[in-house]
Amino acid sequence: MGDGRHSDATNTTDNGQYAVIVKDAAGFAPPPNLLDYEAVCDRFSWDAARAMLEGLPDGGRNIAYEAVDRHAAGGRGGHEALRLIAADGSRRSLSYAALRDASCRFAHALAALGVAPGERVFVLCGRVCELYVAVLGAFRAGCTVCPLFSAFGPEPIATRMELGDARVLVTTRALYRRKIAALRERLPGLRHVILTDGSTTEAEPDTHAWDGIVESQSADYVLHPTRPEDIALLHFTSGTTGRPKGALHAHEAVVTHHMTGHYALDLHAEDIFWCTADPGWVTGMSYGIIAPLTNGVTNVVVESEFDAATWYGVLERERVSVWYTAPTAIRMLMKLGTEALAGYDFSALRFLASVGEPLNPEAVVWSNAAFGMPFHDNWWQTETGGIMIANYCALDVKPGSMGRPLPGIDAAIVSRGEDGTVTVIEQADEEGELALRRGWPSMMRDYLNEHARYERCFEGEWYLTGDLARRDADGYYWFVGRADDVIKSAGHLIGPFEVESALMEHAAVAEAGVIGIPDAVAGEQVKAFVALKPGYTASRELNRALLGHARKRLGAAVAPKTIEFRDNLPKTRSGKIMRRLLKARELGLPEGDISTLESDEH
Ligand code: AMP
Repeated sequence: MGDGRHSDATNTTDNGQYAVIVKDAAGFAPPPNLLDYEAVCDRFSWDAARAMLEGLPDGGRNIAYEAVDRHAAGGRGGHEALRLIAADGSRRSLSYAALRDASCRFAHALAALGVAPGERVFVLCGRVCELYVAVLGAFRAGCTVCPLFSAFGPEPIATRMELGDARVLVTTRALYRRKIAALRERLPGLRHVILTDGSTTEAEPDTHAWDGIVESQSADYVLHPTRPEDIALLHFTSGTTGRPKGALHAHEAVVTHHMTGHYALDLHAEDIFWCTADPGWVTGMSYGIIAPLTNGVTNVVVESEFDAATWYGVLERERVSVWYTAPTAIRMLMKLGTEALAGYDFSALRFLASVGEPLNPEAVVWSNAAFGMPFHDNWWQTETGGIMIANYCALDVKPGSMGRPLPGIDAAIVSRGEDGTVTVIEQADEEGELALRRGWPSMMRDYLNEHARYERCFEGEWYLTGDLARRDADGYYWFVGRADDVIKSAGHLIGPFEVESALMEHAAVAEAGVIGIPDAVAGEQVKAFVALKPGYTASRELNRALLGHARKRLGAAVAPKTIEFRDNLPKTRSGKIMRRLLKARELGLPEGDISTLESDEH
């Protein structure tokens, strides 16, 4: 299939299903950064990757310096760094120099508020300009940034802000009113709330207006001399049990961000890049902010949510050359068919990549027809901080495969023995757990306040990802599934425990078990099984009330789409709900080992 960059547009696929709109390549078409995979892997060293960046005096490292100041000082200050397209269609453009100045002002504002390096700055906004400025300004000030997804309900927000000991929150006035104001009492450590669109004349109580606190500051700021191992980022992610896990990442992670942007996304400084992920999640941070800026591109930011006409319009009008998106969105585009593509000029596009969930082989076939080039799937997770396995511009894509490990990344398929020992499976095509040899710069440094949980992710030299996969004879990795009960819906990782806990808060609920069920567009959908307390009867009204309760607490992105009542849920002898059994029964799959089953619904 090749890289597709130079392919002439064909008019139909083999089955003649899709008309092609791509014109002759007229856009930016540089030689790929990774031309000879084996050769680059052979000569790769992390020191050489570090040398792609600049660093601070005395071996220091700061993400904001690498992302912004380096370009601003190096003659590219006037280059467009951020191109923001607001939901109302208005546009804003910030050069690297303007982004440096704006983030310096924010860093000064933090100092003026008495916020110390190491304290945590949470951001909860849509994709607005202030978010990007605040994130870079907080790095600059040596603070730790924790992004939250703006579609979370109050409960996931409060849990994460409590666990993360949030000192500052940057949010919008609407989100503050809807989700935060009522939580302030629960968050005594939250000293400052900065409203991106708050006006000084009409302030919310106990908040600062962005204009009042940031805009008057000086644009000269002496960057806090962070060390490579100082913590820059806190990303919450979901596990099967317990509270969300807070993965901590160091400033040194920028080495991986940069080099994966270079090799896996093939970013060149003249690219117009668009990552559709929300910065509330790790992709939107690593590849929606950091990697594009360290690679010096123009980073397109679209505030509005998915809509095919808007997205196609952005690709065409902004002349996007590299596009990084996710399978759920691709499937939604595919569903709309050929008609939705008609009339667009995508000639600037030269590289497409996808992440976050399994990418169906049909999506690659479709993009070949629709855009004249394949989607390049890649794989990583919150804990790895950056792309670990990818399909590359210059290598053939095997539709359905996640690709091959990045230079410097040693991946393996392993099996775990009863005693926890790990054995590498050398044989091709054998299924096992995907493991990565520890030691790359963006590996999480710890789980916040849960060091034992962090240690359990490792066995000797291997980091165990919790994903099942296989490797074929050509060294390509294929995703098989999760080894745990975590749910991936529309690209968002959802912990069943968090959903069950919210349901259990309802007076009628005695037990709840939450699973993911397959969905043609979202990958998986959240489904809950609920047993009621004595005195409550299953009814359509109660079902609706429970769905409403969950949506209000958790937000629509996390809440179950369906709830089913059961008299009893299958449990182990120690009382743990057997989600795997619920799922097997729901999907008509083999029930597997049920020797620990204690009570049952049947
Ligand atoms: P997150 O930490 O939210 O980024 O989610 C990481 C998880 O998403 C991985 O452990 C996988 O289960 C899944 N994932 C990410 N990328 C892919 C991919 N390309 N193919 C299949 N699953 C993926």
